[in-house]
Amino acid sequence: MPIYEYEPRDGDCKICGGRFELRRPMDREPLEACPVCKKPVRKIVSAATTPRVAKPLSISDAKSAGFQVLKRNGGGSYDKQ
Ligand SMILES: [Zn+2]
Repeated sequence: MPIYEYEPRDGDCKICGGRFELRRPMDREPLEACPVCKKPVRKIVSAATTPRVAKPLSISDAKSAGFQVLKRNGGGSYDKQ
């Protein structure tokens, strides 16, 4: 079971210390709020397990960055996704 690290989206949390780790099953929804203080949190990608330089660019990352994502359709041409 992977360990995820979370931090508050804004400000810091006096209760959980600003960051906390949580062990969650892979198939669970991402945690949206600190279970202690109920502030919105975001997941931190651990540098130890996923080096920043080796992080592959995901399709959603590319789309949010304004790239048009093309999917190869197998016939040598490309379809818009
Ligand atoms: Zn908290």
